Amino acid sequence: MSKPAARGPSNANSKDGEICPVCKSSRYLNKHMKFLINPECYHKMCESCVDRIFSHGPAPCPIAGCKRTLRKVKFREQRFEDLKVEREVDIRRRVAAVFDKTEDDFETLRDYNDYLETVEEITWNLILKIDVEATEKKLRQYEAAQKAERNIQAQTYQPDPSLPSDTAQVVLKKSAAQRRAQGNPTGNTPDPASGAGNGQQTEPGLRFKGLKKYVPPPPEAPFDPFDGWAIEPQYYVTQNDYDVEWLTRAINDPLHIGGGYDMRDFYSWALCDAFSGFGVFVEDGKDVEMADVF
Ligand SMILES: [Zn+2]
Ligand SMILES: [Zn+2]
Repeated sequence: MSKPAARGPSNANSKDGEICPVCKSSRYLNKHMKFLINPECYHKMCESCVDRIFSHGPAPCPIAGCKRTLRKVKFREQRFEDLKVEREVDIRRRVAAVFDKTEDDFETLRDYNDYLETVEEITWNLILKIDVEATEKKLRQYEAAQKAERNIQAQTYQPDPSLPSDTAQVVLKKSAAQRRAQGNPTGNTPDPASGAGNGQQTEPGLRFKGLKKYVPPPPEAPFDPFDGWAIEPQYYVTQNDYDVEWLTRAINDPLHIGGGYDMRDFYSWALCDAFSGFGVFVEDGKDVEMADVF
């Protein structure tokens, strides 16, 4: 475990912050010099050092005593003057992304406060480097369980819930593997796949009480562009052909057949024209209009 770069007595002088600890070049000589840090160990170095050392792939941190393997993509500019603050903010952001429950997710305020306390404990363990491995494991397990739970919630809308999505299958497999790794092959822990809609599925060790049960919203009705209005004719049925002499003549006329004209279109238009006034009461319509005006 390496300590984050602290501003000890050796670099109390603000000028020291302007010198790259790797190549010793100073901002005094190159005013465009940019310092970068890597959240892996928070050691600061100049951009050209990062380019030189990490361009060909991951490499160990060049700061003496730090053996962390760093990647170029992870380097970024420092946001806070104090690197301790920088690190704490990063950790808090990472933990908050996993533990994203709100007060509304809990039955009582007390349960929510208990949850917040657990989250704060995890955060402080990571910040102060206490039980880092166990805490990281807890974090990963909880994240996997949350993902599996969300996938199940998403599946409640799918026509066939017995077929989980590829991602869900991967997550479920992972959680199953984690349970096996914990020596619990009997499956005493709730299987995320067993009960859709249960909001309390988390890995053992990180179960929060007082979580509200997940209630899936009612399924949406299929979209009806006519808002319940029946487009099908109510007063007549269109036949495929009619035994009328002039109509038969017209059908057999090559002029009509030639254009690919479908006589059934003609039938439905003609009948629609004849019957479309049915069921519309002009007097009723007038009353509504008058009522609107006054
Ligand atoms: Zn440098
Ligand atoms: Zn380092």
